[in-house]
Amino acid sequence: MKLRLTIVFASIHIFLLAQNNTPKNVILMIGDGMGLSQVSMAYYFQKDNTNFSRFNDIGLIITSSASHKITDSAAGATAFAAGEKTYNGAICLDTDSNHLTSIVDILYKKKKMSSGLVATSSITHATPACFYAHQLNRKMEKEIAKDMLKANISYFAGGGKKFFRPIFEQLSKKYIIDTSQLIINDMNQNKNYAFLLAENGMPKMTEGRGDFLPKATKLGLERLSMDTDGFFFMIEGSQIDWGGHANDADYILNELIDFDKSIGLVLDFAEKNGETLVIVTADHETGGLALTAQESRLMKFLKGKRDYNIIKPSFTSGGHSTSLVPVFAYGPGSENFRGVYNNTEIFKNILKSVIKKAPPQ
Ligand code: MG
Ligand code: ZN
Repeated sequence: MKLRLTIVFASIHIFLLAQNNTPKNVILMIGDGMGLSQVSMAYYFQKDNTNFSRFNDIGLIITSSASHKITDSAAGATAFAAGEKTYNGAICLDTDSNHLTSIVDILYKKKKMSSGLVATSSITHATPACFYAHQLNRKMEKEIAKDMLKANISYFAGGGKKFFRPIFEQLSKKYIIDTSQLIINDMNQNKNYAFLLAENGMPKMTEGRGDFLPKATKLGLERLSMDTDGFFFMIEGSQIDWGGHANDADYILNELIDFDKSIGLVLDFAEKNGETLVIVTADHETGGLALTAQESRLMKFLKGKRDYNIIKPSFTSGGHSTSLVPVFAYGPGSENFRGVYNNTEIFKNILKSVIKKAPPQ
């Protein structure tokens, strides 16, 4: 009898532990084009302490798509949003152009979780699009915008006014739309909010974007955490990629610092909340960025001399690379994100963490 009771109590204990290990909220942060060199810039060029050091569960992902060894952001985001490798350019479709069910819809259906999206690109750009739209090609941004009318998105903020303009009237039936500022008066959990703050992409940090990303992150957390069923929130630092394409280290650094700041806000929220799983990763690396020593090219006798104390960022490409990219995880379920695996596992591991209870140890 005593033994049986002990077993019962032990099982209850294990059950409760497993319960505590099930996150109520999931925040997925994507640094577009953010490889390990980009992350490293936060350690060598950023004045403030970087928030990347606050993670303990780290992994690496293989980012190739179904069609190419080097992925684009559409196939990369489809892997995160729907757990399948697809062709470059696809917006949440499989290789036969069938609709894939996105994690936003799965979490809504299974757990009534609401969702939010923030990007520093247009909200119709490839990365955010894969979480609510289904289109043959990422360039179909007007069609992508239309898909928002049927989506389970309670809050979104970014650029893309011009793609939504033709459907403003329909959109305003579902959303309180603001095209000028990031403010919610009388925030209501039964209302959806849309912030479209630029015609296309948001301005660069170096051209006056200011605190849009951290502010939109904070406002999204406020709105989404009103939902007692939990939430899924995708936040993208879209322009780290654009800095890579431009082979502009200063552009990357400023975008990275902004993204890092938003990571800090998210981790502060998650620490306080205790039921939030945070994943920070990238869809691929951009630019083939290397942080190598400055080489003298001035005088003949100094040629090729390297100063190992001066880092000179350099690029090997104007496009994407296929280097593995890092995954940082925090909170209940974060242990599922350790190791080296395919980008499609991000989707699977989120669902494993949220829907299935962790197996007893
Ligand atoms: Mg992107
Ligand atoms: Zn790119």
